[in-house]
Amino acid sequence: MERREKEAVRYLGFGKNAVDDRTLALIRESFEDLDREAGKKSVHRVFDIRQAADDRILIGPMDITSKSLGRNLKGCDKVILFGATLGTGVDRLITRISLTDMAKAAVLQACAAAELEDYCDECQKKIAGAMEEEGRYLRPRFSPGYGDFDIRHQETLMRMLDCAKTIGLTMTDSFMMTPTKSVTALIGAGKMRMNCPESGCETCAKTDCAFRR
Ligand code: SF4
Repeated sequence: MERREKEAVRYLGFGKNAVDDRTLALIRESFEDLDREAGKKSVHRVFDIRQAADDRILIGPMDITSKSLGRNLKGCDKVILFGATLGTGVDRLITRISLTDMAKAAVLQACAAAELEDYCDECQKKIAGAMEEEGRYLRPRFSPGYGDFDIRHQETLMRMLDCAKTIGLTMTDSFMMTPTKSVTALIGAGKMRMNCPESGCETCAKTDCAFRR
């Protein structure tokens, strides 16, 4: 099974149980549909970061109070603002399938989530390569709304990336993103070589890490 297929199986809640053949066939079919319909786009920009206190982080116009983000970014002198989307074609596909086949729509939702994670990991790997050339190493992605990082910062983050123009990503007053299969995040960068996996702290073996998000 491909990595994204394994992720989709996990999102569907199979846990350690083997996935049945019919679901696996639906997963494979869904990824084929996604590969055809997705218009993946991403944007990132590097900013200086200042940590005024353990729980206060200043990035350009962003003044963030968050203990969990503060812990995760400790020791970073740069931060990458990141946005990515699978595009409106995927939303249209999910809506279309939902009208006729709810089981397939559920599988498609899981596959789209896995595809988005996979795409973000791929983008992050490229960013990590460029940052390493200047001797900086990335921390895991940290999205507004995660832990005590207030989702309201998503608006400023999207403005700083000019997301509407650069990747066609907008947000409603209730912070829902359009297209829905999209991500915004901060990625810390510092001189400390941590070897963080792109997939983040949840998959990392260093359970005693002081920077765990
Ligand atoms: S727990 Fe792992 S992924 Fe998370 S910050 Fe520490 S080293 Fe990085």
